Amino acid sequence: MKKLSALFACALLASTAPAQRFTGYSGASSEREREVEKALEALPSPENVRRFHRYLTAEPHPAGSERNHELARYVAAEWKRQGWQDVAIHRYDVYTSVPRQVTLEMVAPVPYTAGLREAAYDVDPDTKNPRVSRGYLAMSASGEVTAPLVYARGGNPEDYDLLEKNGIDVRGKVVIVRYSNPYSYRGFKALTAERRGAAALLIYSDPAEDGFTRGAVFPDGPWGPETHLQRGSITYDFIVPGDPLTPGWASTAGARRIKPEGAVSVPKIMAAVMSWHDAKPLLEQMDGPEAPKDWQGGLPMTYRLGGSRVRVHLKVDMDNSVKPNHVVEARLRGTELPDEWVLIGNHRDAWEFGGVDPSSGTASMLELTRALGKMAKNGMRPRRTIMACSWDGEEVGLTGSTEWGEQFAGDLSRKLVAYLNVDSSASGPDFQGSAVGSLAPLLVEVSRTLDDPSGTSLYEAWKKSAARDTARFAATGGGERKAAVDDDSLVDTRIGSGSDHTVFLNALGRPVVGLTFSGPYGVYHSMYDNYFWVNRFGDPGYRYHTLMSVLWGVLALRLANAEVLPFDFGFYGRDVGTFLKELCSGGGPARGADPARGAAGATTAGCRAGELDLGPALAAANEFAGTGRQLKEAIDAALAAGPLEAKKAARLNRRIMDVESNWLSPEGIPGRPWFKHMLYAARYTYAHLELPGITEAVERQDWTTAREQTARLVSALTTNTGLLREALADLKRPPPL
Ligand SMILES: [Zn+2]
Repeated sequence: MKKLSALFACALLASTAPAQRFTGYSGASSEREREVEKALEALPSPENVRRFHRYLTAEPHPAGSERNHELARYVAAEWKRQGWQDVAIHRYDVYTSVPRQVTLEMVAPVPYTAGLREAAYDVDPDTKNPRVSRGYLAMSASGEVTAPLVYARGGNPEDYDLLEKNGIDVRGKVVIVRYSNPYSYRGFKALTAERRGAAALLIYSDPAEDGFTRGAVFPDGPWGPETHLQRGSITYDFIVPGDPLTPGWASTAGARRIKPEGAVSVPKIMAAVMSWHDAKPLLEQMDGPEAPKDWQGGLPMTYRLGGSRVRVHLKVDMDNSVKPNHVVEARLRGTELPDEWVLIGNHRDAWEFGGVDPSSGTASMLELTRALGKMAKNGMRPRRTIMACSWDGEEVGLTGSTEWGEQFAGDLSRKLVAYLNVDSSASGPDFQGSAVGSLAPLLVEVSRTLDDPSGTSLYEAWKKSAARDTARFAATGGGERKAAVDDDSLVDTRIGSGSDHTVFLNALGRPVVGLTFSGPYGVYHSMYDNYFWVNRFGDPGYRYHTLMSVLWGVLALRLANAEVLPFDFGFYGRDVGTFLKELCSGGGPARGADPARGAAGATTAGCRAGELDLGPALAAANEFAGTGRQLKEAIDAALAAGPLEAKKAARLNRRIMDVESNWLSPEGIPGRPWFKHMLYAARYTYAHLELPGITEAVERQDWTTAREQTARLVSALTTNTGLLREALADLKRPPPL
């Protein structure tokens, strides 16, 4: 970092207009950082990413499989070769769920045996790989049933209500549902079916969701073909993620394990997955009332609710032994602040080849670590430690990241500056970034300095695709939203679950960022999500994969090298105010709508939700936001005058890092003690859920709990305002003589 040639820096200055300082950097350190980032930007190559990607996607590599273990050793070897330090493979012994047998037949009115297999295509030899599994859902219960079939659209509670209105009882029956619109996590569909007393659940991919209704299908287009199967897990990880037998602690060798019968995240219902190829013969034979218009799918037939005519036989036999998952870890130790960690991570396990999910991310990560390793060898080492992790078992229950997070909770709580997650790196060209409120402005700032393959800056490309999404959303009746997207609403600061950031944010209270490039993608979790698909449709030429390596790396470096950590608490506080105001307006947060964003200075009187007065919370959020803005201004002013004195910077950074920890409630949110963050959680559907403790209590009209949860939030806001005030006072204090 410090060995950069002064000559080069001068040349850079002379050839360009005086560049703006980066947030958290003085003038001199900004110039150094710019050089470091330019060096990084020059290193990743699409051809290297492609090479990594080809290797990673050569074979199916599900969680806990021998191939995924082999890939763990491959990643570890690469990291060593690339010059990373402290390379380790951590082993966790976890409850697994791998099928020995899944069979599904229609026994009446006509016999049909579901193949549960995906068709091969000559144009893509990988589709002929004999090691591809048949369709199954991990964490299904084992058992056998023969019963009538009922159709329940998306398998959400309101769908069962409609069946009930039509006099259709699902108890003891097999329910067939679609991967739905509106979306809900398949584990929520399983829980709902279980609660309603169904004997088993079948989930299939209707062409209306991700098949021919949407456009050309594989191998001619990006959408799912007739036989594609969306494998997946139905784990109840919205209650507690990770290994079901070690809820809240790490599943290391010799760890205490509970009995599977007592594990709340293990479903008690049988479930299986189908393609529409296998679902159609069943649906066509169904009797019962015609399903409503918005229950009709993309198949050329009349969808019926079902009654008694179609009977199916389902047998599921799962192997639930305890087997190892492997997490790979490596570091580039920081030159000045080795005990402050910036973590990048991606899961390695895939349902099959994992073309997009997740091997696109793993390929981007390996190319990034290669670049950072090379820079380190050339003397450009980060000030803070940069760590990299390759997770296992994400697809089953966020398992590897959760176990690793639980094992190293003590260190992580104190040392982790931020976790930067990339699950899928690129299924298309449209950038989507998510972050906790305090890191949202940094993501926008970084996007301005990077080039998008479309010829504009990443920032401009991002704005364009976000505006397109917004327009589409408004056109489909999503409510009013202006077509132009301003900087403040580019980053998605409503963070749900469904990927490896969960343990860091929700259990450990550390700031998180999520990055992805997306596009039309109808082969998710099928064997067609593979090398061919990525090269033909997702990212031909690997330009977005490569941009991801750069973006991910620049973010990591910007955090690792900052004099003052570039967190924006003014922005964060305003977000909290917005979340509160959405509650006081009565309803829950409208999807995509940001009604009050930017107006957090508005009145605090009259902000009520039923019997709950949210005025004091809103006032506390405003106070926190205001102090955050003052601190940001003071830091900017101090850094404009030159570098901060080291001890002062250290005290400041400690306080900045402590803010996120203070959002944790030690008891967790009511009913889900593992989820401790007071600002963010996920609904059982995986949808984002802001202010979870308060929101869920308000929805239940449980005013005692709502008041108690609000008091906790006010207390956290007050503590954090105090912390920022101390930081402010310390910053302004003159140095001792
Ligand atoms: Zn994934």
